[in-house]
Amino acid sequence: MRDFEYLPTKTLQEACSSISQYKEEGKVLAGGQSLITLLRQKLISPSYLIDIKDVSELDYLTYDEKKGLRMGALTTHRAIEKSPLIRSKYPVLSEMEKSVASVQTRNWGTIGGNLCSADPIGDPAPSLIALDAKIKIVSSRGEKTISLENFFTDYFTTILEPDEILTEIQLPAPVAHTGVVYMKFSTIEAGIKIVSTSTSVILGSDKLTCKDARIVMSAVAPVPFNARKAGELLIGKKINNDLIAEAAQLASEETNPTSDVHASAEFRREIAKVLVRRAVEEAFEKAKRT
Ligand SMILES: Cc1cc2nc3c(=O)[nH]c(=O)nc-3n(C[C@H](O)[C@H](O)[C@H](O)COP(=O)(O)OP(=O)(O)OC[C@H]3O[C@@H](n4cnc5c(N)ncnc54)[C@H](O)[C@@H]3O)c2cc1C
Repeated sequence: MRDFEYLPTKTLQEACSSISQYKEEGKVLAGGQSLITLLRQKLISPSYLIDIKDVSELDYLTYDEKKGLRMGALTTHRAIEKSPLIRSKYPVLSEMEKSVASVQTRNWGTIGGNLCSADPIGDPAPSLIALDAKIKIVSSRGEKTISLENFFTDYFTTILEPDEILTEIQLPAPVAHTGVVYMKFSTIEAGIKIVSTSTSVILGSDKLTCKDARIVMSAVAPVPFNARKAGELLIGKKINNDLIAEAAQLASEETNPTSDVHASAEFRREIAKVLVRRAVEEAFEKAKRT
């Protein structure tokens, strides 16, 4: 690991000021669960590490029926997994977090760090996109809020400028008759993810007609993405098995997987179809019960 200067910060303003001073030469350090590995492997060699882990104003979970959920970027995976609020309002997130790494990593790793890592097989992004998440980005030049869907640009790359800090994840309050499911397929238990989907289905008052649907795919393209054609096929129609199978086929066609040592592109497309079919079926059943 190359030498660097360690700069602990206590406030967001302090962190913004440091990162704006060093830009490309600096790197934000949150839980360090991804960053330290990159430093050890000399994949990156910043001259300054700006530690934000003690910026307590970025560690919170709040909920309001009008505004929905506000989650600080320093919220750990473990805090999300264990939060009674998350379990009752966004159960898919509690379930998803249980499958992220080990308890030790979940205790340190933060949701902001996970999203900024932009790992194409990262677990939280697909469900957050299915829940229509927005994110707040702050720098000493100002702040902006964008849809999480537009955050990722390529493998391990986001729209973040070198002086920007992700500060908050925002989710709308859940509406009645909503079912959200996260499913992933790995070749071995806790192994490399081959395909995952997070699917959200919102039903009308008849509990049969689809009002809205999002079928988010991950690990089958450089970035997680909303398979729009598949979701739109369901909207306005009464959900049945044939329609679900057609949506699964469309979602699979919208993927752009690569072949590697873990699986061929063809296999990934086939698994994508099977997973989406199961996820829509389960999301539909969940939506009927809420
Ligand atoms: C053994 C192991 C297993 C893992 N398994 C999984 C898994 O199953 N699923 C999964 O999704 N992930 C997994 N991960 C990845 C890990 O959980 C996340 O990437 C981690 O949560 C990152 O958070 P962090 O706070 O540690 O970020 P850090 O490592 O501190 O930072 C990661 C990157 O994000 C930047 N960054 C961090 N916070 C901010 C911010 N607020 N604003 C701007 N930039 C920021 C940093 O500069 C760095 O580039 C695993 C990691 C390990 C070590």
